[in-house]
Amino acid sequence: MVEKKKPIRTCVCCRREFTKDELMRVVATKDGKVFLDESKKANGRGAYICGEESCMKKLAKSKALDRALKTPISSEVYALIADGIAAAKK
Ligand SMILES: [Zn+2]
Repeated sequence: MVEKKKPIRTCVCCRREFTKDELMRVVATKDGKVFLDESKKANGRGAYICGEESCMKKLAKSKALDRALKTPISSEVYALIADGIAAAKK
């Protein structure tokens, strides 16, 4: 029996590896919108975040999403994403 391998993704902020279903996906669409992709299926460039507290604390400061999505992201959008992740984790 071959065990089915789960896809592994790296958190853009802390660089640790997780299975895809443990991570939150943030997507940057072609028209420049950046949002938390709760379906994990939106079109565009995606970045994954583990959402752990230690990681969320440095997310906006480190601008990890700017680099991962190759687009400038405002602090308002970082705040929205952080709120969305906090809500999803409950
Ligand atoms: Zn992380």
